[in-house]
Amino acid sequence: MRELADGVHMLGGWPPNAINVYLVDGVLVDAATRQGEQRIMRQIAGRRLSAHALTHAHPDHQGSSHAICTRLQIPLWCGQGDVPAMETPGGVVGISAGGGWTTWIQRHFWVGPSHPVARSLVEGDEVAGFTVLETPGHSAGHVCYWRESDRTLILGDVLFNLNMLTGRPGLREPPAAFTPDPARNRDSARRLAELRPRLACFGHGPPLRDPGRMAEFVARLP
Ligand SMILES: [Zn+2]
Repeated sequence: MRELADGVHMLGGWPPNAINVYLVDGVLVDAATRQGEQRIMRQIAGRRLSAHALTHAHPDHQGSSHAICTRLQIPLWCGQGDVPAMETPGGVVGISAGGGWTTWIQRHFWVGPSHPVARSLVEGDEVAGFTVLETPGHSAGHVCYWRESDRTLILGDVLFNLNMLTGRPGLREPPAAFTPDPARNRDSARRLAELRPRLACFGHGPPLRDPGRMAEFVARLP
């Protein structure tokens, strides 16, 4: 686990930066796939966690949510629009339905069980010193976490900083197959770039400390 900003830690994983999990002042943000349980539990051992929050309820972010909330007896929080998916058995695969082998993996291998949501997050809510931003598109209830004081942004999958096929870093939009409303997601990306985050923490890919690069990328989108 390494500290990226005050109180913001990124858990280690393999391959590095492929599926990211963050610990933000005692709140675990995202929980990787179902196979991520042990690596998360090992790295947070001995720390006091108060809650687990999601950026969105897709199988590569909520896979270990049920296991971790149950084992640590902490509440699960997620964006209001993703609550039905998170709470309904089979709901998560419904909102991430795409095509091809990655869908098959998500449905049969990565996805975690449903789990009750203790707090549904909306625009302006506060989570561990961060402000909740509603950023729909990649999922109906996708949210980001923004800390104005040091311009730190945890942006989930609104943008990737990784090519999932080649493993090379680089800004890109999330795959269309897993983004029910790409136009809306693009609007969300534009909004985030306008914030000019000094540190951007992605769901996939290494952190980016270059607000100009994100602005340029978003400006080139159609
Ligand atoms: Zn993802």
